[in-house]
Amino acid sequence: MSEVLRSREEIPQKDRWSLEDIFATDEAWEKRYKETEKLIGLSEKYRGKIGQSADLFVECLEWADHLGLNMEDLFTYARMRRDEDNRISRYQSMTDRASMLSVQAGSALSFIVPEILAIPDDQFQELRKNSKTDIYRHYLENILRQKAHVLSFAEEKLLAEASELATAPSTIFSMANDADLKFGSIQGEDGREIELTKGNFIKYMESKERRVRQEAFATLYAGYGKQINSWAAMLNASVKADVFFARTRKYKSAMEGALDDDKVPVSVYDSLIQTVHDYLPQFQRYIRLRKEVLGVEELHMYDIYVPLVPEMNAHIPYEEAKDTVRKGLKPLGEEYLKILDEGYQSGWIDIYENAGKTSGAYSWGTYSSHPFVLLNHQNTFDSLFTLAHEMGHALHSYFSNKNQIHLYAGYKIFVAEVASTLNESLVMRHLIHTAKDPQMKAYLLNHYLEQFRGTVFRQTLFAEFEREIHAAVERNESLTSEYLSKIYRELSLTYFGPGVVLDEQINMEWARIPHFYNAFYVYKYATGFSAATAFVHQILEEGQPAVERYLEFLSSGGSDYPIELLRKAGVDMEKPEPVQQALTVFTELLDELENLLRK
Ligand SMILES: [Zn+2]
Repeated sequence: MSEVLRSREEIPQKDRWSLEDIFATDEAWEKRYKETEKLIGLSEKYRGKIGQSADLFVECLEWADHLGLNMEDLFTYARMRRDEDNRISRYQSMTDRASMLSVQAGSALSFIVPEILAIPDDQFQELRKNSKTDIYRHYLENILRQKAHVLSFAEEKLLAEASELATAPSTIFSMANDADLKFGSIQGEDGREIELTKGNFIKYMESKERRVRQEAFATLYAGYGKQINSWAAMLNASVKADVFFARTRKYKSAMEGALDDDKVPVSVYDSLIQTVHDYLPQFQRYIRLRKEVLGVEELHMYDIYVPLVPEMNAHIPYEEAKDTVRKGLKPLGEEYLKILDEGYQSGWIDIYENAGKTSGAYSWGTYSSHPFVLLNHQNTFDSLFTLAHEMGHALHSYFSNKNQIHLYAGYKIFVAEVASTLNESLVMRHLIHTAKDPQMKAYLLNHYLEQFRGTVFRQTLFAEFEREIHAAVERNESLTSEYLSKIYRELSLTYFGPGVVLDEQINMEWARIPHFYNAFYVYKYATGFSAATAFVHQILEEGQPAVERYLEFLSSGGSDYPIELLRKAGVDMEKPEPVQQALTVFTELLDELENLLRK
């Protein structure tokens, strides 16, 4: 707030990324844009003919690939240029033009999958036997396995139109939740009136002053409570749509349908929930420690977010953050560190904030260039972990791009957060083991345990709630507000146990979770975090062989189904072990924190 932000020109070149590595000039971008328009026009050459011969098939997929690569370069470059300073109209307009072109490209490519699905079986076998189609084996298999769930042309057309209607619950929810809902004000720590928003809610839930936490909690839920029947109607409609589409597509359940996208068996989901249940006594021990440290007679739901150890006033300049991340990642071996250094030195990273720059952080890039990382480094612990996290994504892309053809270089969300979380965990462990000050150590342990709480326990509770409410609709029950609140309360009781006073308001928490409108998604946070923790465990125990398996995983992109890629690397998500290993780490960290705080 105090200092004026630098303009982009004031940031030294060495602290900026070099987008010139994608296009040397904007003119080169324009040239490629024109080429791509021509490329889109070639679709008529292949439409209706894809199954005719192996040659045509391969030629068509190569054309599609070329188009895909171009679109990636065009859009990513324009968008990242815009992110440098959102006020520059030239890059706003290049971004818009690139998105319009990619809509055109998408529609030019849209015939491919339906045509592949329509190839008669015997003709298809011929095609597959041809050695020219060898590299497309996984691609074809992935399309074919969905054949049983694709309907007739007329039915598909109806479904496509119905699916537009089916977005209504989620649109209504986000309008009600983001635009219309107002909570009123609370009294902040200094006694001043503050308007409570969804954005500042967590900040007040972390307040050291209990009155502020309690007021924020009561005020937020009073806001949701006023329209509780409307929230229930929205969620009910959304779940009904999930069930409708799954049934129409001949899936046994909405859950099976949703998981089939990634070819994840339902057993992975069920086993996550079961294993987390086995460790709930440990989670409840963490909750009891919280009660003890906060020194409260009763632990309420508004006491869950406040840090047990006060924030450390660390000042970590970027150079130091870089160095710490590198030290933390040492167990990943020389090869990994060499690429990390290359990333540090070769224009991958845009480090500092400047006027107009996009906030937050991300890792992105294109197949034909190196990865890029956008940061807004603030000299804090959070910024240090953000660097570790984004470099995890960046190196994952680097290894996949280097080792896979473009078609298979992209990886699925199910595995994406493994590489980033693994880096954070390694850096966290390094910091914990080298912390000399017990206060600092306790702070870090608490920070890490909170990640387990938020990513594994909380998301699994959500996952279980989603499973319950979809099953209810599949039994033709209706999701009333009473029913939803009853289920949510029962689950909260199971997770938090008797150590906490379960305030009535928490029954309504379901009403404010946007992810429920994207069903069976949040479990991936828990499985991703568990897989990463399991890798860390193996790497620290076994050393080199585990590192090699992990690098193999990073190099595999999307060349196989997520579960298979992880299994090959030694993490079998169909077995309870990875989640068990992760929660064993939770238990050990909790022991350490207990020892420190009870001294
Ligand atoms: Zn991430």
